[in-house]
Amino acid sequence: MTKELVIVNKAAFRVEKPNICPYCEKGIDPKRISELLYSYQGSTYAYVVYQCPCCDEVFFAKYFPGYGEYDGVAYPLVVLGGQIPSIKFDDCLNEISPEFVKIYNEAYIAESLGCPSIAGIGYRMAFEYLIKDYGIAKCPESAEKIKKMKLQECILEFSPDEDTKTLWRGTTWIGNDFAHYETRFEDFDLQKLKELINLSADSLVREIKKKKYIEKFQNK
Ligand SMILES: [Zn+2]
Repeated sequence: MTKELVIVNKAAFRVEKPNICPYCEKGIDPKRISELLYSYQGSTYAYVVYQCPCCDEVFFAKYFPGYGEYDGVAYPLVVLGGQIPSIKFDDCLNEISPEFVKIYNEAYIAESLGCPSIAGIGYRMAFEYLIKDYGIAKCPESAEKIKKMKLQECILEFSPDEDTKTLWRGTTWIGNDFAHYETRFEDFDLQKLKELINLSADSLVREIKKKKYIEKFQNK
């Protein structure tokens, strides 16, 4: 990160400039456009407005400059602006279940906005799409039947091995806790549900890629 001196209302402090544009996500040395100090709840913050030299978008960096201690360097507390946050998944998951990727990211936005209950239901829904779409990719001729199957039935039919079956079933149970009045596993929070879903997605990626390579070698 590049440091620079910012002077606002005769107060001078050094800041670390953000080095990644929140819009185009390129590594940048942004141009400073403006700055202001703002006090609330007993603390004073500096807001610096920057412009990206690549995409020309404007964004804010919020600093706590340690008002009165101008020798220190302030790091951005948060960079404000840019795209809605999104989680990227392996391309093979985008191919077999674009709905999983879409719903997972909607849940992620809900979580980012401070709605963990809604996020939990969303993550559980995303997981169901992932497993069912995987089943449909394996047996496209049974697509209509798979869509109507219970998630647990799909897991029993399509999980590649016993460990994965246990993992997927557990993920369903934890996900259900976010969708139902009574909870079965009280020590599992949203982060653990996400971890389980990500592990389940990883197991699918491994399975899909393994199968692709095996098919290539078998045809030789
Ligand atoms: Zn940019």
